[in-house]
Amino acid sequence: MSEKYVYMFSEGNGKMRELLGGKGANLAEMTNLGMPVPQGFTITTEACNKYYDDGEKIAPEVMEQVHASLKKLEDLSGKKLGDPANPLLVSVRSGARASMPGMMDTILNLGINDEVVKTIAERTGNERFAYDSYRRFIQMFSDVVMELPKHEFEVIIDEMKEAKGVKQDTELDAEDLKQMVVRFKEFYRENLHGDLPGVAFTRNPATGEKKLFGEFLMNAQGEDVVAGVRTPQTIDQLKEVMPGAYNDFVEICNKLENHYKDMQDMEFTIENEKLYMLQTRNGKRTATAALKVACDMVNEGLVTTDEALMMVDPKQLDSLLHPQFDANVLKNATPITSGLPASPGAACGQIVFSADDAVREHNNGKKVVLVRLETSPEDIEGMAAAEGILTVRGGMTSHAAVVARGMGECCVSGCGDIKMDYANKKFILNGKEYHEFDWISLDGSTGNVYGEAIPTVPATISGDFETFMKWADDRRRLKVRTNADTPRDAKQAVEFGAEGIGLTRTEHMFFDGEKIKAIREMIVAPNAEARKAALEKVLPLQREDFEGIYEAMQGYPVTVRYLDPPLHEFVPTKKEDIEELARDMNMSVEELNEVISGLHEVNPMMGHRGCRLAVTYPEIAETQTRAVIEAAINVQRRHPEWKMVPEIMIPLVVDVKELKFVKDIVTSTADKIIAESDVKIEYHVGTMIEDPRAAVLADEIASEAVFFSFGTNDLTQLTYGFSRDDAGKFLDSYYDAKIFEQDPFARLDQHGVGKLMATAVKLGRQTRPDIKLGICGEHGGDPSSIEFCEKLGLSYVSCSPYRVPIARLAAAQAVIKNEDK
Ligand code: PEP
Ligand code: MG
Repeated sequence: MSEKYVYMFSEGNGKMRELLGGKGANLAEMTNLGMPVPQGFTITTEACNKYYDDGEKIAPEVMEQVHASLKKLEDLSGKKLGDPANPLLVSVRSGARASMPGMMDTILNLGINDEVVKTIAERTGNERFAYDSYRRFIQMFSDVVMELPKHEFEVIIDEMKEAKGVKQDTELDAEDLKQMVVRFKEFYRENLHGDLPGVAFTRNPATGEKKLFGEFLMNAQGEDVVAGVRTPQTIDQLKEVMPGAYNDFVEICNKLENHYKDMQDMEFTIENEKLYMLQTRNGKRTATAALKVACDMVNEGLVTTDEALMMVDPKQLDSLLHPQFDANVLKNATPITSGLPASPGAACGQIVFSADDAVREHNNGKKVVLVRLETSPEDIEGMAAAEGILTVRGGMTSHAAVVARGMGECCVSGCGDIKMDYANKKFILNGKEYHEFDWISLDGSTGNVYGEAIPTVPATISGDFETFMKWADDRRRLKVRTNADTPRDAKQAVEFGAEGIGLTRTEHMFFDGEKIKAIREMIVAPNAEARKAALEKVLPLQREDFEGIYEAMQGYPVTVRYLDPPLHEFVPTKKEDIEELARDMNMSVEELNEVISGLHEVNPMMGHRGCRLAVTYPEIAETQTRAVIEAAINVQRRHPEWKMVPEIMIPLVVDVKELKFVKDIVTSTADKIIAESDVKIEYHVGTMIEDPRAAVLADEIASEAVFFSFGTNDLTQLTYGFSRDDAGKFLDSYYDAKIFEQDPFARLDQHGVGKLMATAVKLGRQTRPDIKLGICGEHGGDPSSIEFCEKLGLSYVSCSPYRVPIARLAAAQAVIKNEDK
C-alpha cells in the first residue's frame, strides 16, 4: 500500500505536528476534544516534501488520496463541489511544522462558480454580500495561486471608487461589485461564496487584556444583513446578533485555554448561526501582552510561575527595553490622525512608501517609517528595516499588525483618513501633504500618529515586567553581569538588573579625545622612557573613567580587561592626523609613516594583541593597574559601605608562564599602591579563556588565575579558524548546504567550542575548586548558549546592557528545563 499522504481531521491528534503541521495537528486535537470542527483533511508535510523532491509535481498517489478525501467530505456533508443547488465550499489553508508568521496563504470558499454566487445571493437575500465575497475570492486566488500582483486589483478598486466619487470600499453597492467581479475575472475566472470566517484571540494579543478579541475577515461591508440577520463584524456584535453561537464560542475558548494552558489564536466560521472551529494555536503576542498574559494566568491559578516563565520567549523582551516617547514632549504634541494600536512601542522616522525604499534608506543610516496602503509577505524586509509601520487599511489581524507584533516593531494600522498617492511619493491627510522623508512619529500603544519627530527616552522595568522578572530572579542560579565600558552603559545595565560588570573593554576608553593622542604618542615612542611619559598622560584619564564605572555599579563587582587590540588600530590613518602626530612627537612624517607601517600585520587578530602587548610593553599593564587600583581606593574612600574588589582580567592568554609574567607586573604595582594607601582593598587577578591552548591547559593556568571568563568570540574564531570579521561572507553557503544551522558567533557551538569550555571548566576546578567562572563573549546574552552555561555550572554570564533582562529570563528557564529532565 502506498504511504498515507492525507489524514481526515478525525484520524490525527495534537502530537502529530511533524506530519500534519501545527494547524493540522491542532484541528485534529479539537476534533478529538469533541469541538465543532468542520469536516476536513490535512495533506501531510511528507506530501509537500515529495512535491519538491519530484521537481514540483504532484504525485498521482497524493492526488488520488486528495480526491478520495474530497469525496468523503461530500458524503459527510451531503453537499457537492460545484453544485449550484447544494454547493460544498472548502477553505484551503497552508500550514507548517514550525510557525511561519506572515505566510498565511489561504484560499477561502473554493468550489464556487458563476451559478453558485447567484445561489448565495438568493439564499442570503443579499446580492452585495455575495458579490463582495466573490471578488475577494478572485483576489485571493489570483494572488496565492496565480501569483498575480495584488496591486493590479487595488488599482481597479481605486479606479471604481474614484469613478463613483466615494472613499471607502464599503460605499460601493452590489452593482459596483458585480462590475468589479467582471473586471477581476479578466485576471482569473473563478467563483466564491462567503461564510463568516473570523479570527479571534482568547486575550488581546497587543495588550494581553483578558477579553475575547477578534474580528471577521471577509465581511467588511458594515451593517449588512445576511439571510435576514445582521452581519456581525466583531466579537461584541456576535454576542448581540447570535448569542447562541457566541456562548458556544466562549465555552470553547475557555476549554481551549485550559487544555493548552496558553492564550489561543483561533479561527472559526459561522454557518446558519452554527459555530465551527477552523483552527487553534498558541497566540502570537507582543512582549507587553506576553507578560500580562503570563502574570494574569498565574493570578487566575491557570499556570504556575514556572509555567509562566516558560511562556515568554526571552528574546521578545528586547522590544520592551527600547526607548519610549518622551512624555513631556508627547503631552504637547497633537496627533494628526489615529489608527488601531496594532503593535506597541514608539517609532520616529522619515516617511518612505515602499519596502525597497525602507531597506535602502535604512542601509544609508536613515530612520524610516514605512507607510503603506497595506502590507504583504514581500514587504517583510522593508518592515524589518523600518522603525515602525503605518497602514491605511487593515485591522488588528492584518498582515502588517501580525507581522509587526511578531517582530516586536511598532505598528499603527487602519488609518483610513489617509489618502495615498504612491506615484508622487506622498499622502494627503486633512488637506495637508506629507512627502517622502518628512518626519513622522507613531505610538503603537495608542494608535496616535504625529506629523513631527518626537524624541524618545530609555525604557524602565515596572509593573508586570517587574513582577515577572522577580520570578525569574528567584529561579535562576547564574548571576547576570554586563559588558560595559562607560558609566552610562553601566547605569543602564544596573537598571535592567545587572549584578556586576563581566567585561570592561579598556581600549574603548582610549579612543576618545585626549586619550587617543596620548596612546598614539605611547605607540610611536622610541623607548621605554618616552612610552612611560606618554602613559603618564593616560593615567589620570583612565583612573577617572574607572571611578565613573565603579560609582555607576554601586559596589557590584567590576572586571577590567586589559588592553587587547593590535596597536595599529590606534594609529592615525588620515593625512592631517598623521601630520599632527608627527608635529607633536617632533618627528618627520616619513619617520612616523615608517613606524606606522612597521605595525602592519598580515593577520592582526592572531598578531600582536591581548596580553602579548603587556609582555612587550609592560608599562601598559603597569599604568592600567595603577588606574584600576587608585580608582578603587578613591571610590572606597567615598563609599565605605561598598566593598571594592576590582577584578583584573588578562586577555588572550595561551600559557601559564605568560600569565604569570603579566600578573607579576600587576601584583607588584597594585601591592605597592595599596601598601602606601590608608585604604586597604583586595583585588583579584584572572584571565580570559579565549584561545584553545588555554582551554586545554586550564589546569596549569588556574594556578595563577582566581577566575576564568570565557571569551567565546575569540574562542570560536580560533577554534574554527574562521575570522570573526569575515566569516559572514561564506557562512550562508554553509547554511544552504546544511553543514551548519546557525552562526557559531551568535549561538555557541556546544559541540566543538562547548567541548573546549567543558574541558577548561573541569581542569580549572581540578587545580582551584572554587575558581570563579563566567562568560563574556557575545554568547553570554544568547538564550540557548546561556542554557549551556547553566549546564556547565558557570557562576555568571555577562552581556550587553540591553540583553541583561533576556539573560535573566533565559537563566531561569535553563534551571527549569534542567529540572524537568
Ligand atoms: C571574546 O573574545 O569573547 C571577548 C569577549 O573579547 P573581545 O570580543 O573584546 O575580543
Ligand atoms: Mg577576545
